[in-house]
Amino acid sequence: MTDDATLRGRPYLSLFFECCRVYQRVYQDRAGTHYLGRCPRCLGSIRFAISPDGTARRAFRVK
Ligand SMILES: [Zn+2]
Repeated sequence: MTDDATLRGRPYLSLFFECCRVYQRVYQDRAGTHYLGRCPRCLGSIRFAISPDGTARRAFRVK
């Protein structure tokens, strides 16, 4: 995967992984239906559905 360039300009969320107490940006998947995040330390993954209603929130805490 050479996603580095394609990730620029894509929407992202800021997640705080409570498991390891670290922040990480997560980007939309290619279909634009989910945000896919992975804890950089324990590699636990998380998926957020993107709601059609939308939300102004751009920062979340996850476990
Ligand atoms: Zn973790």
